[in-house]
Amino acid sequence: MKPLPVFFSLIALSTATLYPATPAQPNVIVIFTDDQGYGDLGCYGAPDIETPNIDRMATEGVRFTSFYAATFCGPSRAQMMTGCYATRVGHARNPSPNSNFGLHPNEITVAEVLKGAGYATMMIGKWHLGDAPELLPTKQGFETYFGLPFSNDMWRYHPNMPPRENEDELMRKTRERAAYTGYAGQGRYYPPNGGFPNDLPLMRNDTVVEKNPDLRQLTTRYTEAALQFIDAQRDRPFFLYLAHNMPHVPLFVSEKFAGKSKRGLYGDVVMELDWSVGQILARLKKLGLDERTLVVFTSDNGPWLGYGIDGGSAGPLRDGKGTTWEGGVRVPAIFRWPGRIPAGRRTDAVAGNIDILPTLARLAGTAAPKDRTIDGRDLWPVLSGESNRSPHEHFHYLGGSAEGAVNYHGIRDDRWKLIVTVGADGKVAGKELYDLGPDTGEKFDRLKQHPQIAQRLAVAAQAFYDELRANLRPAGKRARP
Ligand code: MG
Repeated sequence: MKPLPVFFSLIALSTATLYPATPAQPNVIVIFTDDQGYGDLGCYGAPDIETPNIDRMATEGVRFTSFYAATFCGPSRAQMMTGCYATRVGHARNPSPNSNFGLHPNEITVAEVLKGAGYATMMIGKWHLGDAPELLPTKQGFETYFGLPFSNDMWRYHPNMPPRENEDELMRKTRERAAYTGYAGQGRYYPPNGGFPNDLPLMRNDTVVEKNPDLRQLTTRYTEAALQFIDAQRDRPFFLYLAHNMPHVPLFVSEKFAGKSKRGLYGDVVMELDWSVGQILARLKKLGLDERTLVVFTSDNGPWLGYGIDGGSAGPLRDGKGTTWEGGVRVPAIFRWPGRIPAGRRTDAVAGNIDILPTLARLAGTAAPKDRTIDGRDLWPVLSGESNRSPHEHFHYLGGSAEGAVNYHGIRDDRWKLIVTVGADGKVAGKELYDLGPDTGEKFDRLKQHPQIAQRLAVAAQAFYDELRANLRPAGKRARP
């Protein structure tokens, strides 16, 4: 073969130097599991659940050890969507079926940001930010939607539904399972006509297409819908938000994984989620999209320990879902983008699902909304390996609360966590201090030994608390009363 003329190579070289390739907008897939604990993946130390596909994501990407969600489902999703602490957007609580509230339509979601940047957008799975027609995913930036609009236990088969005459097989099995697993709420019943007397609606866009679908097939169906969406994308970058209902109780698994794990039904369900991740990664590879797609895997909150062996595990962390102990809010988080995110890294930088929106906005070539406070920060310097420092000087712990209220629990920096009390006068005071470096399990209160550290954090906590209280935004309301 004839060598290329010298001038040709020089032009190619100088062009490359002058105009470094601007990365095209990556496709983004966010996989969000429900009530999966910090200790429920092989790559986070689970000894009894095999998750080879998610573990491979970690070896091919970056794994966070201090990544934070909210304490339970609805608030965590509000954070993921808005880049803000759930309290700030009036959504630090769970909407029930036919709820009169949800995420405010004026909030700018990550789907709206990406759609505005030219992305095709789809959501699959659990929304839990309001099931009124005007509060559904299709009104918040998702062009298409397929899934359950709230939790899979918000139905007539909840174990706390009052006993009925002639209960069917599913209800009998639900009560048997509660007794077998050590469910803490056994025998406590909702008042008559209370609880969840509804059927579980499976929706496509704004329409209920099935009631009480076979939940054993749910993960499989979500996965098939995800693969179809990926296949259909040719001309536009895409954003897929895949929010699995599993492994939230009641647990259901298909025949593919029934009885396969060493951790009972919970482990089987996580193995099926891992299979789902494997299917998606395989499809990206087959379509040649690996190096054009960022895949994120994380969970909405810690394990629901009250469900006994049907809850997950927080591994070395203290407590679980519903609390601001680390086990309640610190979750697995893995980001994989071959060629752009260095492989096989672990980072201890403090981050959270509030950072997803600013990060994805930047990667899409746009920015987070500037007309309002956004708590999240751009994680790209950490993801790309340019920095190992958290973009947050402080991170805050907030419990559930009604709209307009602030249930402030504490603050952390890259090492210390201060748990606080807030007086009736709005004054924040340190209560317990933990050194999260050596004391991952929050066993040793160091407040007396380090009053100056506690004082420094209390000052920052007070400033955040005051700012948040002064800048609360409203929840969305159902139009029909
Ligand atoms: Mg949850």
